[in-house]
Amino acid sequence: NTPLHELDPDVAAAVDAELHRQQSTLEMIASENFAPVAVMEAQGSVLTNKYAEGYPGRRYYGGCEHVDVVEQIAIDRIKELFGAEHANVQPHSGAQANAAAMFALLKPGDTIMGLNLAHGGHLTHGMKINFSGKLYDVVAYHVDDQTGQVDMAEVERLAKESKPKLIVAGWSAYPRQLDFAAFRRIADEVGAYLMVDMAHFAGLVAAGLHPNPVPHAHVVTTTTHKTLGGPRGGVILCTSELAKKINSAVFPGQQGGPLEHVIAAKAVSFKVAASEEFKERQQRTLEGSKIIAERLVQDDVKQAGVSVLSGGTDVHLVLVDLRHSELDGQQAEDRLHEVGITVNRNAVPNDPRPPMVTSGLRIGTPALATRGFQAEDFREVADIIAEVLKPSYDGEALKARVTALAAKHPLYPGL
Ligand code: PLP
Repeated sequence: NTPLHELDPDVAAAVDAELHRQQSTLEMIASENFAPVAVMEAQGSVLTNKYAEGYPGRRYYGGCEHVDVVEQIAIDRIKELFGAEHANVQPHSGAQANAAAMFALLKPGDTIMGLNLAHGGHLTHGMKINFSGKLYDVVAYHVDDQTGQVDMAEVERLAKESKPKLIVAGWSAYPRQLDFAAFRRIADEVGAYLMVDMAHFAGLVAAGLHPNPVPHAHVVTTTTHKTLGGPRGGVILCTSELAKKINSAVFPGQQGGPLEHVIAAKAVSFKVAASEEFKERQQRTLEGSKIIAERLVQDDVKQAGVSVLSGGTDVHLVLVDLRHSELDGQQAEDRLHEVGITVNRNAVPNDPRPPMVTSGLRIGTPALATRGFQAEDFREVADIIAEVLKPSYDGEALKARVTALAAKHPLYPGL
């Protein structure tokens, strides 16, 4: 029972340094969040020791009576949270949830449609060297040049031309809401399954602040660690009709033993996600991203060639367009990092710069909202970002403002 600091001081030091980084800087990567201590406690529990291939009540190993309880709680809670008929809580990650869902519904060589990666889609929605691009024939749809929003006329045209077996609606970098009913109508017209990947916006859906895709889609996949605020992991929701297919695609199709310690942590996070406090946090998440979008379209920033894709946001993130700025995505990311704000650079549609450089930034508010940021704090953050994106800025002064914000909202006090 030697504690980590004694057994492995090298790893312990890196973990401590990461805690300090999270506490002392502002985390604005849109796909990140801070899991509650109780979630981390469940994830760090003895459940990590247990093999439990199979599903609650139908396992291939003995001694599963307690992990059965945990997994069933997780299943029941997430079904209730999203109004789903069936849930599989075993996928190790969002990518594995998507792989399993596709494995359940498709054969290699079938056609799928997904949002192009540079237009906001995820790797698993058909990127060339991802499994999805290698196993399936991919027809990508795009956002409209003018509006920055998904071009539903193109989706309909491509679907009719290519007759896909599956249409994926979902995104990793898109500041608006998708029309799930329209996607379903198109899917029905061409005889395709509709899969919604709500990894990014699941927390907003749980809080009732974003349309719920579950009533529209055959299958909904999600991660549990983004807006949902739980441990790293994936989940698949589907109709009762597809339950068997989905379950056998996860195990034994794609995975071996489930991570019951992570499933326990998922269960705890689903309890949190059903609370009033969680809803209030998601409201501040949305308020924060709107404040940032509004600040980054003001004249002083516009003069530096900076704008916001689609002109604003309806979700937890803002996409900054640097195509007309002297700063590229890499430089902007580095500058923000220097003042203590962590974001990621991101390709924008028709990006003239290479993918490792890009002409965009993706800025998200979930982690800061979890930390307790209020509108006035987000106004201060928005102003700091605006200053950094101008041609000249006082890095030291801005870093002091970031440090003051971090100190105002302590993260994991006592850890
Ligand atoms: N789906 C979407 C829309 C995502 O944005 C991501 C991650 O960024 C994933 C799936 C994959 O999740 P994971 O990183 O857990 O595999």
